[in-house]
Amino acid sequence: MTDRKYKRVLMKLSGEALAGDQGQGIDLKTVNEIAAELKEVHDLGTQIAIVVGGGNLWRGEPAAKVGMERSRADYTGMLGTTMNALVLQDALERMGVDTRVQTAITMQQVAEPYIRGRAIRHLEKGRIVIFAAGVGSPYFSTDTAAALRANEINADAILMAKNGVDGVYDDDPRTNPDAHKFNTLTHLDILKKGLKVMDSTASSLSMENNMPLVVFNLNQSGNIKRVIMGEPIGTTVVG
Ligand code: UDP
Repeated sequence: MTDRKYKRVLMKLSGEALAGDQGQGIDLKTVNEIAAELKEVHDLGTQIAIVVGGGNLWRGEPAAKVGMERSRADYTGMLGTTMNALVLQDALERMGVDTRVQTAITMQQVAEPYIRGRAIRHLEKGRIVIFAAGVGSPYFSTDTAAALRANEINADAILMAKNGVDGVYDDDPRTNPDAHKFNTLTHLDILKKGLKVMDSTASSLSMENNMPLVVFNLNQSGNIKRVIMGEPIGTTVVG
């Protein structure tokens, strides 16, 4: 079997990754493309768990800013992540990949509840596990869910797939052509420099538990495989 750097990964897919060029909503063609790339690394024997975001459908904080009660706005966001999870699950299953969705808020007609031991068992059996509804609590993010679940399932790393940005920069490379890209960083650097990678709760959790993170561009085909094989693309964040 081909040698892979990462054998069990927790992939964080932002909601926007599923929106394609539209920037919001769900673009099924884009979802299929992502599913095909996931299948490719799954076929190598990689154990894959995914935390999906929901920002393509809803974000709690802006809704709260215009008057909505914050927790209710956040629960709406968590339901959005579940919609994304089901759509991604369907694309993977159509390609012949066995999957399970587990939600942090129980909705038993729709998906399994999150149970750590079962999630690990699914991974061992070669199923892709998709975690939905974040951590199940308002005021948190799916980045924090990614950091939490990665530790819980003993993942080798968090793979943070970004839309069109190939790593961590000291400024936004889309607006500043002089922005500098970091090849390696520590979680503490991210916190100290206030870099926009994950939110600070997710960064702290990753730092305290020495969870590596690879930030890379999802929009370049073959990149998930490159990361899994250990090619030095993107930015690697350690301890
Ligand atoms: N959310 C939440 N708790 C969580 C995860 C998500 O309340 O544990 C809500 C929150 O309102 C957030 C929305 O769900 O704005 C969508 O998640 P997120 O913004 O993390 O998605 P992404 O930016 O990754 O697409």
